[in-house]
Amino acid sequence: MSTPQRWRRSAWSNLCMQGLFSNKVYVRPLLEYSSIVWGGCTEQQSISFERLQNEAARIVTGLTRSVSLENLYEECGWESLQYRRKLQTCCFMYKVYNNMVPQYVLDLFPININERSNYELRNPENFTVPFSRTTLMRKSCIPNGIDIWNGLDTNVKLSLSLSSFKNIIKDASKSLVKPYYLHGTRILAVQHARIRNRCSNLNLHLFYNHLTISPLCTFCNSVEDAEHFFFVCRRFQTQRLVFFRETRVFHPLSTKTLLFGLDSLSIEGNCKLFEAVHNYIKCTKRFQE
Ligand SMILES: [Zn+2]
Repeated sequence: MSTPQRWRRSAWSNLCMQGLFSNKVYVRPLLEYSSIVWGGCTEQQSISFERLQNEAARIVTGLTRSVSLENLYEECGWESLQYRRKLQTCCFMYKVYNNMVPQYVLDLFPININERSNYELRNPENFTVPFSRTTLMRKSCIPNGIDIWNGLDTNVKLSLSLSSFKNIIKDASKSLVKPYYLHGTRILAVQHARIRNRCSNLNLHLFYNHLTISPLCTFCNSVEDAEHFFFVCRRFQTQRLVFFRETRVFHPLSTKTLLFGLDSLSIEGNCKLFEAVHNYIKCTKRFQE
């Protein structure tokens, strides 16, 4: 592969990485500034924040509004802001429980059950939830933090260090994005991601999204879904021969393999497979129409 081609291929990865990086470094800290204090905001305010991040995720991935938020976040590997606020509150409460915050912060919390009672109690590491007369008070920093802390499993609360506590409460799968999803040139990776998320220009996807009246392939007169595009459509027989030759080592192929990769393959193997898929998408010119 020539150097300019290599540059072009890495452009999407770079752009996507830049988007992911910019969000993490420049945007998200602003959206989360002091979130422990205002984390108990109203549902409507929380939705507004999420919308902002959803829009950023759509820009980075190139996916459309028809894609579910679950799939959108799987593509970019982000967590919802609400989920992150809860994690931050958990960490803050761990520090409170272990006296890792200044005294003036500790003074705001009631003593925990362990210190209050001489009896053997079921959850001695819990805090007593302070009485709140209004919902606003109940959702404010301290009652909300205590609520979240009391809801954690005892073994988690008794973690030996903050880092082990973080590792246990953080659901690692939520922040992992498959690296080969970011591989290749941006335009082809976006078209691939759109097929994966059923928002491409294939007629079945347009039909799902109420953008066409028929899901049929205009050439073959059968439903034009991803399987039809990759394996059946008579329009692309020549391109398919090349595609199958390029992917011989990955046979037998399935639509799922072509769209999501194979867990049994290495990252490099999946990147090669995705390169072949991108090449097929490019050669068919199906998405340039
Ligand atoms: Zn067809």
